[in-house]
Amino acid sequence: MERKRIDLIRGARVAYQGWNPSQQHDIFLEDGKVKAILSHEPSLGFSGENILDATNYLVAPSLCHAHVHLDKCFLLSDPKYADLEIAKGDFQEALELTSKAKARFEKDDLVCRGRWLIAESIAAGVTHMRAYVEVDHIVEFKCLDAAIELKKQFAMACVIQICTFAQDPIYSGEHGETNRNLMSKAIQSDYVQVLGTTPYVEESTLATKANMDWAFKTAMEHDKHLDFHLDYNLNPDQEAQTWYAVGLARNHILSWNGERTIALGHCTRLTLLDQASWFTLAGETMGLPVYFVGLPTSDMYMRGKPDEDQGGGERVRGTLQIPHMIQKYNYQGAISINNVGNAFTPHGSCDPLSLASIGVGLYHAGTKADSQLLYDCVSVGAKKAIGWPDTPFTIGSGANFVLFDMGRTDGPLSQQRGKRTLQDVVYSPPKERKTVFCGDLIVI
Ligand SMILES: [Zn+2]
Repeated sequence: MERKRIDLIRGARVAYQGWNPSQQHDIFLEDGKVKAILSHEPSLGFSGENILDATNYLVAPSLCHAHVHLDKCFLLSDPKYADLEIAKGDFQEALELTSKAKARFEKDDLVCRGRWLIAESIAAGVTHMRAYVEVDHIVEFKCLDAAIELKKQFAMACVIQICTFAQDPIYSGEHGETNRNLMSKAIQSDYVQVLGTTPYVEESTLATKANMDWAFKTAMEHDKHLDFHLDYNLNPDQEAQTWYAVGLARNHILSWNGERTIALGHCTRLTLLDQASWFTLAGETMGLPVYFVGLPTSDMYMRGKPDEDQGGGERVRGTLQIPHMIQKYNYQGAISINNVGNAFTPHGSCDPLSLASIGVGLYHAGTKADSQLLYDCVSVGAKKAIGWPDTPFTIGSGANFVLFDMGRTDGPLSQQRGKRTLQDVVYSPPKERKTVFCGDLIVI
C-alpha cells in the first residue's frame, strides 16, 4: 500500500448535497485539506505529477464504518476455524461458536484477518472506522494488541478508532469481575478511544444497569467515547434499556465532554415502540450526543429468522429504521456493517455503500433525498456518530474522498449505462473506486 500526494483533483463531478454533478470542478488540495474548488477549465493546461485526472469520476465524501468488529471478522474464511461451522444460525449458536474461536485466537491470525478487513475497506473508499476488539478473561489483551499493531500499520491510509469492548458480562457470571478489571486496564491505553460494553448479556436488570453505570463513569474518567450494544431483542415483554442509557446521558451531560459521542448499536427492541414513544424518546435524546447505529445485515440475519413453528411465512426484519428516525423524529444516526464473515453475520462485504444500497429496499427509501440520506449514513453521518465531524467540500476541510468511476460513456462502449449522480451510486454501487485520505491517493 502506498500514498501518492495529490495537489489537484481535475475535472471531477462533485456528488454531494447542493453540488450539481453535471458540472465539472477542479479541486485544489494543500496540506491534506481543500484549498479551493473552481469550475473546471479544460483549456487550462495544468502540469505536474501530483494531478489526479478525475474527468470520468464522481467525487463524494469518503466512507466510514461507524461500527465494525475487527477481531472476529472472517472466521468463516479462515481454515484455522473451518470446524466451527454454522448449523442452526441462531444467536446462541453464534455466541458459542465465537467463544470457541476466541479461545484459539493468536496475534498472527488476528492481525491477518484484521488486515483483510481494513485493506478491503480502504479499497471500498473507507477512511475512518470504529473498530471493536474484545477484552475479557478468554482473550485478555490479545485482540487489543493486534488492533494497536494494525492501527499503526494502516495509519497512513485510514483512521482506526479502537473500541475496547466487553462482549461478555462485567457484572454477572463467574468471570464478571475479572472481565471488568481487564476492561479497566485496557481503557487506560492512549491507543484506545472508545469504551464499549454489552449491557444486554448481563444476567439481571440490576446487573444490566450496573454495567451502564460503570461504563458512563469509566468513559468520563478517561475521557473516551462510549458505545453500547443495546436491546438486541424483539421481545415486547422485555423492557427496553435504551431509556435508562439515555437517562444516564442526560444526568451526566454537564460533566460530559461534548466532543465525545454516545453510540447505541442494534436497539432492535425499539422497533416495537409506538409513535408516541418514538416522539417521547426523541425528546429525551434531544441535545445529547447520542447516536443510534443500525446494523441491518446482522439484525436481519440474527433477529429476522422465520418462526418455523408458526409456518415460517411471517418474517420480521427487526432493524432500526434509521432514515425514518432521522427524517421523521430528528434522531441522529448511522448504519454500519457490524460483523462480516462470522456466525453473527456470515454474509456481506467491507463496503459500507452496499448497506446504503440494501437500505433502498429495506427502509423503502427510494427518492433522491433518501439516497442522499442513505449515503450520509455511511459517510458524513457515520463519522459524526464516532466523533469525527466532517464538512466535506468546504475550504479548509479534510481532503477525504472516494472517487467513483462513472463508467464509459464514449467510444466503443458508449452504450454502457453511466453513473451520473449520487443516486446512481447508491442504487448500484460502482466497483471501480479511488480513495483519497488526507489529500493523498491510496494505492493498494
Ligand atoms: Zn457489534
